[in-house]
Amino acid sequence: MSGSPAVRGRFAPSPTGPLHFGSLVAALASSCDARAAGGQWLVRIEDVDEPRSSTSAARSILAALVRYGLRWNGEVVRQSQRTRAYEAALARLAAAGLIYGCECTRRDMEAAPRNATGERVYPGTCRGLGLAAGALAQRVRVGDAIVSFTDRLQGRQAQDLADDVGDFIVRRADGLFAYQLAVVVDDAEQAVTSIVRGADLLASTARQIHLQRCLGVPTPEYLHVPVAIAGSGEKLSKQTDAPPLPADPVPTLLAAWHFLDQALPPTRPSSADAFVAYAVGAWSRSRLPPVRMLLAPRV
Ligand code: GLU
Repeated sequence: MSGSPAVRGRFAPSPTGPLHFGSLVAALASSCDARAAGGQWLVRIEDVDEPRSSTSAARSILAALVRYGLRWNGEVVRQSQRTRAYEAALARLAAAGLIYGCECTRRDMEAAPRNATGERVYPGTCRGLGLAAGALAQRVRVGDAIVSFTDRLQGRQAQDLADDVGDFIVRRADGLFAYQLAVVVDDAEQAVTSIVRGADLLASTARQIHLQRCLGVPTPEYLHVPVAIAGSGEKLSKQTDAPPLPADPVPTLLAAWHFLDQALPPTRPSSADAFVAYAVGAWSRSRLPPVRMLLAPRV
């Protein structure tokens, strides 16, 4: 008997708007990748940023997944219900001396240097000040961590966190936990072994692996699929007015499948369920386009 854990994948949408073509691609890829390996597929609503999240968007995302034949295992986990787990993780990091309070304002950060992708690199202004965390933002030390990992599609990745990101926020001054910490705590607790998501999150992965190491939890495998971009070059999102998914799921599922360069079925599937049954059997990781972005089709 093999000692390796069963495959568990997940889809973790932020409920800031309805499911659109870009998020459908991530849902379809993560579900097929887990199911094709005989594994489970979980859904987690990432509403940790409560002011930006809406329960109606969460409801509409879940309804769209069902309509599109993408059924999850177990209960849907919601980050808004998981504050205790994030507090416990933060306390562990703090006990290890890895957390400090930061009183830098947005204005202070505007003076910070930018990395190659335009993100601000935190220069460590408050690192040595010994500020009590209290009502301040809390940052985790990155030390001299150079994090490398092999993405199952994008290949070898390495990031020097100190140079490229700096100590990063795990809890904001308004008390909300940062996505980077929440996602690590949840993936570990849900025993996720395989993360398949859009390549816009490739740049967050080293931060998440750093937190996994600090917390002593396993690092899952990663596969970052190309992000669907609008004609403007921007990622499809509510902000780019990505249209909501059409009522008839089959043509859009076929478009998402084609976007992922997968082999199309010989005849048009009669329903979303029939398509998904076909897709799980036909899923081929080696056919995926090893790029970070692709133009979205019109759906
Ligand atoms: N909630 C994130 C998003 O919707 C995805 C997080 C993840 O897959 O790790 O962009």
